[in-house]
Amino acid sequence: MAFTLPALPYDKNALAPHMSAETLEFHHGKHHNAYVVNLNKLLEGKPEAAKSLEDVIKSSEGPVFNNAAQIWNHTFFWSCLKPNGGGAPTGDLAQAITRDFGSFEKFAEQFTTAATTQFGSGWAWLVLDGGKLSVTKTSNADLPMKHNQKALLTLDVWEHAYYIDHRNLRPRFIETFLKNLVNWDFALANLKQS
Ligand code: MN
Repeated sequence: MAFTLPALPYDKNALAPHMSAETLEFHHGKHHNAYVVNLNKLLEGKPEAAKSLEDVIKSSEGPVFNNAAQIWNHTFFWSCLKPNGGGAPTGDLAQAITRDFGSFEKFAEQFTTAATTQFGSGWAWLVLDGGKLSVTKTSNADLPMKHNQKALLTLDVWEHAYYIDHRNLRPRFIETFLKNLVNWDFALANLKQS
């Protein structure tokens, strides 16, 4: 069965003014969709087409890996955003962040640094690595499951993620994500699954 583009978990207008409908139209409707179209073309008539997306990611490299991982990354990323999001986490996740980073502010600092200093295209992550929370960054399509880490939260720092709303101002995009968009409920659900 062919891979398909999952629907956004909210209306494309729901994140405005922090993330515009136009950004979501391009980022989900064009970029994310292109990865789906490309992967289906690359795997047409091949046994890998019957595998799960995770299995394709774990067992591939090159163009197949890049497109498969970008499908997974974007599907995960949409759930990391929510209307009226932002602020600090609560409950078990807040406790784990304080335990492993010292404070939420220290986590936010590390996450902001990772997202700002990822040179070129890539992703900033909050991951669970050997039972401990950690901030990481990856280039292009690379992702935590290739490094035996469990992803809890991500921010897409490819230019296509912020250029319509913020032009070249990646730091303002990162700040907006943490203040107004981040979905800590999703990160907590991922932590509980682990
Ligand atoms: Mn993207």
